[in-house]
Amino acid sequence: MIISFPNMGPNWVAFKTLFTSLGLDVIIPDPTNREAIKIGVKYSPEFVCFPFKATIGDFVNAIEKGADTLIMAIDCGPCRFGFYASVQERILKDMGYKDITVIPLDQADLLDFKWVKTLQEVSGRKDLFMYTKFVKAVIFFIKKAKLLNDIQTAEGIFRAYERNQGDTTDLIKNLLNKLDQTNTLPELKKFKSVIKQDFSNLDTDKTRNPLRVGVSGEIHISLEPYVNLDIRRKLGEMNIEVHQSLSLYDWVVHKFHLNYHRKWLEHLSRPYVPMDIGGECQWVLGEYIDKAQAGFDGFVHQYPFLCMPEVTARTIITNKLKGIYDLPIIYFSFDEQSGLAGFRTRLEAFSDLMYGRRNKEIENNAKFIANGNKKIYPHYGDLFYNECVQLIQNSV
Ligand code: SF4
Repeated sequence: MIISFPNMGPNWVAFKTLFTSLGLDVIIPDPTNREAIKIGVKYSPEFVCFPFKATIGDFVNAIEKGADTLIMAIDCGPCRFGFYASVQERILKDMGYKDITVIPLDQADLLDFKWVKTLQEVSGRKDLFMYTKFVKAVIFFIKKAKLLNDIQTAEGIFRAYERNQGDTTDLIKNLLNKLDQTNTLPELKKFKSVIKQDFSNLDTDKTRNPLRVGVSGEIHISLEPYVNLDIRRKLGEMNIEVHQSLSLYDWVVHKFHLNYHRKWLEHLSRPYVPMDIGGECQWVLGEYIDKAQAGFDGFVHQYPFLCMPEVTARTIITNKLKGIYDLPIIYFSFDEQSGLAGFRTRLEAFSDLMYGRRNKEIENNAKFIANGNKKIYPHYGDLFYNECVQLIQNSV
């Protein structure tokens, strides 16, 4: 049995450790690319959402590399996500890959522990010895997911200050390889200091006062850089701080009912959407309000073309929240037709708009004038975010 799973940005590091810790062979698909998207588009129903097509492309690539067992997360709905695994298995079999199996990994509520059964099924063992392996696999998975979350946080801040464009991107590639090769608990415990050390070695210009932008949206689009045209990197290289709390870790902790940040976002969005309607709708609304209250300069909402929950979020923001909170927002709907030219122009126009708004606020607000005309914000962010800010301030 050779396991694989679809791409979701750097999160292959955490999924790989989950399965290799169970003693299984793993094949990582090539990073999502034009060829994978072409295959996904060709064999998927035309009106299915874009992540379905992209993940079919990744699966075909993994099968061609030798994988025979494909793991696909599923949810209980209420959108199309609940059907991905079973429909994808049929499509792949119809394409001629008769011997493959798509195993659904149920993540609707991780406290019902259905995922333990899935891991038993995948590993083919239920004995007591195997349980110790399960525990180790889950601990390593969660630890690596948390470290990936920290890398994402640091990336969003440091890139806006880097003097040599591309340094942060190279550093992250290097860090991901190091994290992939870190496979003992004591080393994992120390890895956060490796992240901080590597980022503190970056050549940064601390005199900058970058715009701050919140980024949120559907999870696959938000985490996979190929399908979102690497939006976080583009924003960072325009000297904009990117704040994205959505990550694999954020999602897993939420599914264990331990994510208090998400509970706060649910509280903020409750007057507009009182329940989970799929995708990230509820949390996107909460993020928009949260970032507006924290004094951000703008907000990016990204989602797949034809994604019902995210289009609902967009409509509520446009028709209701924008009038109340007045935080500039730009929407990106991605699919296989998305291209770089118009995308870059829109981002540049959005940046100009945010600078204009900030300058006007500074002119009109005595608080900013007293602060040397720098825009100031209330205290914001988790411990690691504030540690990163401190590292930049202490740089020479
Ligand atoms: S969240 Fe959107 S893109 Fe994802 S399965 Fe649901 S409808 Fe499709």
